[in-house]
Parts: sequence; structure tokens; C-alpha cells
Amino acid sequence: MSGRVLSDNERTRLQYMLDNKYTYRAMATYVGCCTDTLKRILVREDMADFEGAKYALSPSHKTQTKMWKRPCLRCKSEVERPKWQYVCDRCKHNTQAWEGLPDEYIWET
Ligand SMILES: [Zn+2]
Repeated sequence: MSGRVLSDNERTRLQYMLDNKYTYRAMATYVGCCTDTLKRILVREDMADFEGAKYALSPSHKTQTKMWKRPCLRCKSEVERPKWQYVCDRCKHNTQAWEGLPDEYIWET
């Protein structure tokens, strides 16, 4: 069943069901498979991304970035920022002065 190929009609119908927040069970019933198979089909057809949904539910370990207070290469500001970022956010966003410089220079290690 997981090797099932959707017809254009089925794909259109499933897209409609996704857009209108139908349950996966309802979609699975429509396709005639179990919800697990349905999810695999949706991922394969690029209609849904369950990996992303999973991360969205438990982002804790992923979003924690180490911070440091190394003086900014440019303005010497010691405002806390993500480790390995050598210029402060203000300087980073003010790219004018950095234009034309290679990344290696800006992010010098
Ligand atoms: Zn700075």
C-alpha cells in the first residue's frame, strides 16, 4: 500500500482536505489506507512535512544556543550573542561597512 501512487484527482482532493483541516483519519479513509500509510504518502507527495511538525512540538534541545560576551570585532560591544558570532547583532545587520568583505574575514576564527 505504501507504494501507492496518487492520481491527480486524489492529490487534488487530499490537498483540499489538508487545506480545510480534515483529520488524517478522514483522508486515510478517502484514500483507502491506514493513517500511517497516508502520512507516508503525503510526505512523499510533498504535501505535508511531519518531521517539521515533530520538531515544532519539542524544540527545546534544538533552539538552545551557547552564548558568549566576546567584544564585537567592530564596535567592541560586549552584548551577549550566540557563540562564534564575532560581531554584535547591530553591526551584523548594518552590513554596509562589511560589503565586499569575504565571510572568512567577518567570521574570523
Ligand atoms: Zn558591534
